[in-house]
Amino acid sequence: MAELFADLGVTEVINAAGTKTRIGGTRLRPEAAAAMESVAGSFVPVAQLQAAASERIAAATGADRGYVTTGASAALTLAAAACIAGDDLGVMARLPDTGGVADEIVMPRSHRVAYDHALRLAGATVVDVGTADRTLGAGATNVEPWEIADAIGEETAAVGYVARPETEPPLAEVCRVAHDHDVPVVVDAAAELPPAANLSRFVDAGADLVAFSGGKAIRGPQSTGILAGRADLVRSAALQHLDMDAVEALWDPPAALVDDPDGVPRHGIGRGFKVGREELAGLLVALEAFLDEDEADRAAEWRARCERLRDGLADAAVEVHVEDADYEHGTPGVRVHAGEGTTALVGRLQDDDPPIYVSYAGRPADGFLLNPLNLTDDEADYVAERIAALA
Ligand SMILES: *Cc1c(COP(=O)(O)O)cnc(C)c1O
Repeated sequence: MAELFADLGVTEVINAAGTKTRIGGTRLRPEAAAAMESVAGSFVPVAQLQAAASERIAAATGADRGYVTTGASAALTLAAAACIAGDDLGVMARLPDTGGVADEIVMPRSHRVAYDHALRLAGATVVDVGTADRTLGAGATNVEPWEIADAIGEETAAVGYVARPETEPPLAEVCRVAHDHDVPVVVDAAAELPPAANLSRFVDAGADLVAFSGGKAIRGPQSTGILAGRADLVRSAALQHLDMDAVEALWDPPAALVDDPDGVPRHGIGRGFKVGREELAGLLVALEAFLDEDEADRAAEWRARCERLRDGLADAAVEVHVEDADYEHGTPGVRVHAGEGTTALVGRLQDDDPPIYVSYAGRPADGFLLNPLNLTDDEADYVAERIAALA
């Protein structure tokens, strides 16, 4: 229990929902918390720390360069800014005003999510193409690569793509179409870890920039993310994010991140998403720990916790089954069906003492999901007990 929450009069909750930002996201790895504390009393040029992070992220993802952001959402804003401004300091200074420059981001219509506000924040206009027919069961097609090609023109800055196991068209095909028109592809892969192999999956498929959350399964600081991709685009993101309050004659950005700048830019569009050395240290240590973990062991631990939840609910007035992960070694879950009473049950759990949060999209027919990632075994037993009591 965190005593500070009690001192503040705020009630701690049990997180059976997974990495949901509104209840704190992830359980920070202890070694990441220790790393944050270890650097908090010392100073360092943040740009040099970002250059070191770039090398680590490049090694982990197979991309040219990487950058630590304040979340996948911030990474998407910086990605859009990089695709719009390139190496032009004047455009960087004018964003989000995009007068006179290509600022459209073409996206398959079935990829539109609330997070594409992050792209628009940089000044981009999202142009969506195709239909969601297959998703809605209204027809046989979704979005065809030719429709993306057809929408690319003089005003196109990038193609946007949200990576999920089921998203279409395949990323490699979208990249081929975009690259035929010399347009970069930005991929939102915020929640697509584990498996660790997905760190390089989207770069391998041809993506020019990829955004991951640091505060989901990597279990880094909640306010971190990763942007990985092409050297010129990550360079542009850095120039639009780093604090630029520097005397030109004394400004010495690390060449591994910002080679050969034309001058000191103004504070850029990303300045409001600053990343501290504590977050940088915490994310890098968490990323290393995530990569060091045995994936089969982690998957077995989550699977066992799901089975524990299922078994604990065997006699409850709900229907339960364990749901496989989307990817091999991804996160499994426990689906709970409580019929028409689902919304009310989720509400009773949330009003319980302590409150229990589950993952629920508001559709009673789909039930709700229990995610093992942020639960201890004891908490899992407790959650099953309370669902049984309240169902
Ligand atoms: C979680 C998520 C984000 C936002 O990630 P943050 O790291 O919280 O900024 C963006 N896109 C998708 C698809 C997500 O699941």
